[in-house]
Amino acid sequence: MIENVNPKTKFIFITGGVVSSLGKGLASASLAAILQARGFKVRLRKLDPYLNVDPGTMNPCQHGEVYVTDDGTEADLDLGHYERFSGIAATKNDSVTSGKIYQRVLDKERHGDYLGATIQVIPHVTNEIKNFILSAIDDEDFVLCEIGGTVGDIEGQPYLETIRQLAYELGRERTMFVHLTLLPYIPTAGELKTKPTQHSVKQLQEYGIQPDIILCRSQIEIPQNEKRKIALFCNVREERVIAALDAKSIYHVPMAYSAEGLDEEVCKYFNLNAPKADLSKWKEITDVMENPEGEVKIAVVGKYQLQEAYKSIAEALTHGGIANHYKVKIKWLDAQDLEKNGADAYLNDVSAILVPGGFGIRGTEGKIAAAKYAREHNIPYLGICFGMQMAVIETMRDVAGIKNAGSTELDSNCEPVIGLMTEWDKDGAKQIRHKDGDLGGTMRLGAYPCLLTKNSKVAQIYGTEEISERHRHRYEVNIKYEPILRKAGMVISGKSPDGKLPEIVERPDHPWFIGVQFHPELKSKPFAPHPLFVSFVKAAIDNSRLL
Ligand code: GLN
Repeated sequence: MIENVNPKTKFIFITGGVVSSLGKGLASASLAAILQARGFKVRLRKLDPYLNVDPGTMNPCQHGEVYVTDDGTEADLDLGHYERFSGIAATKNDSVTSGKIYQRVLDKERHGDYLGATIQVIPHVTNEIKNFILSAIDDEDFVLCEIGGTVGDIEGQPYLETIRQLAYELGRERTMFVHLTLLPYIPTAGELKTKPTQHSVKQLQEYGIQPDIILCRSQIEIPQNEKRKIALFCNVREERVIAALDAKSIYHVPMAYSAEGLDEEVCKYFNLNAPKADLSKWKEITDVMENPEGEVKIAVVGKYQLQEAYKSIAEALTHGGIANHYKVKIKWLDAQDLEKNGADAYLNDVSAILVPGGFGIRGTEGKIAAAKYAREHNIPYLGICFGMQMAVIETMRDVAGIKNAGSTELDSNCEPVIGLMTEWDKDGAKQIRHKDGDLGGTMRLGAYPCLLTKNSKVAQIYGTEEISERHRHRYEVNIKYEPILRKAGMVISGKSPDGKLPEIVERPDHPWFIGVQFHPELKSKPFAPHPLFVSFVKAAIDNSRLL
């Protein structure tokens, strides 16, 4: 295993201590970005200790959005941060869970691969984790592996044991442990507390792991004597106790870490002579963010009461804002409130409306009301996946007059304008699904090509007639309704190459009304904002001037 890995590749393992939600994903992504800014080639990976095979069936209210890669992996939202910060498209080799690891181990056991052995966490599970960490590495200088959860969690133990073994096998000169902790501030004492960090490092040491760098999240500057204390008690050099202070935005973090000396210490540790980090592109975008020409308010009409559930959408709107030199202020709305009190009360002060993806009946009438409001009031509308489906239903019901138009996901007795997709092409092979099949991992997932109609609004926005976008859905607008939709003012301006699956709808009679069956937000990056979001935010700005 180890012998097959490029000898120049070094491994940085990122663990978290004290509490969850410290932003380990962002810390990992930021470290990767500054190493890139020094000219290194990086790859980021996430190891999640929970037992789900992937987060695809998890409630977004608990675990945030499900991020989807080009190759159709349903992954933790941290992979979104990785892609946005590093610009490198993640793959199935970059995300794993205990569920997936155990599945692989048990498949091998059933296949007879272990030849009579008793299957155990060590070495069988740990070897499988090792396989994951070491596989599909090319000529990367660094592979950064983030271990999900908090040190001390029962589920995380096999991962800590694996990275301990890897440090032994690869050698400490090729491995580094970065531990992210929290220094709580006690206002009554006016002090930052280091004890939780000390305990968390002690726990790591019990697993045989000595951190090389401690990144300390803190609300305020960390006094030098506190850093000294942490260094002494945790066996880490003082200059490697690094402050990770709350930043103005996530895009300020790489510069902040670099200013605290993080990349300098990584290079010293590995004995690497590298030019200073060139973070000018980060400076440029954060300058725009701090000095926008104006602010525009855009409504996001969702239903999951957790903004993390719409992470990539919020980021893509920020990117669209940066490209237009504007700040986008998101008005988060609960679709059920629109159902109860009418859309006008919530939407009369916004410059554009976005209805994101979703599953299930709750809130659907509110989303349909939002689409209707946007259509009737000439407000820019972007419908993403479920948001496109709701816009189509609205046009069918309110313009074409088919009152029971609906989706079979929500009502089996409706006029099935949106129906379950049971067959489609993927890279030349037929994909077949059944109504009662498994829910996990069986949607239309990942990148699919789409052809745009010449001279359509979307062709103009993309500047091309052939695109590839990422999907995650089970239902689809039935192409047979195309003539009725056209008559009702909605054209299908993007289709799968075989012409069978509608991918994009737009209203030529409206200033900006577009619905897409895919998830453009997943591909937007601060340095490569998605054209649909750039254009949507521009339309919102133009509309705000009319308000
Ligand atoms: N629930 C819808 C479907 O499965 C939309 C999914 C989504 O918005 N991601 O088709």
